[in-house]
Amino acid sequence: MGAEHLRPTMRLPALFALGVLVALTPIAPARADEGDVLVQAGHEGRPQSCAVYHVQACRLGAAAGRFRELDWTPIVADEATRVLRAAGYTVLRRPADWDGGDSVRAAIFIHFDGATPTCTSGASVGFPETTSRAFVDAWERRYLAWFPFRFRGENFTENEHRYYGFRKVDAPEKLLVEMGELSCPEQRVWMETRLRAMGDQIAAFLEERVLK
Ligand SMILES: [Zn+2]
Repeated sequence: MGAEHLRPTMRLPALFALGVLVALTPIAPARADEGDVLVQAGHEGRPQSCAVYHVQACRLGAAAGRFRELDWTPIVADEATRVLRAAGYTVLRRPADWDGGDSVRAAIFIHFDGATPTCTSGASVGFPETTSRAFVDAWERRYLAWFPFRFRGENFTENEHRYYGFRKVDAPEKLLVEMGELSCPEQRVWMETRLRAMGDQIAAFLEERVLK
């Protein structure tokens, strides 16, 4: 009886301490998730998201006439996500700007290139030092066996090599993939009808290299 009587008062200090902890915790990032893979659609959600996330270099991506990179990347990303989720994998599907802090086994960042003069670029890849050579080689082998235009190379710009998205996710394998040059009419015509097929390529690559 005496013990029961005491219990509420004994709990009070603990509850108080918890309240102080909550009050001292900075505003938590909305969601940092864990998953099998992360798939980002480059530039998706911009420019609106740049203000929200205080992004100084609000790059909107390549454009040529009515064709815009930021309209194409979500189509590719959504298809890759659909296929992988149908196969039972957990996919974190991300736009250009998000809270970050995610943990996955591999992260893919989808882009299309723009070039002046036109048709001097093509497909390319960017990655940090931590990404394995085998992972990069496997993507290049797969994609360049299918993509019939130029391969521009690896980490050919600082934006590719030090992509901001790499810092937003914890993953052993991180790869930015430029699918081709949007500003080159010949490449654009070929790619326009193959956006979903590109997503299928990415899904098959991830299943083969990371998820099996
Ligand atoms: Zn881009």
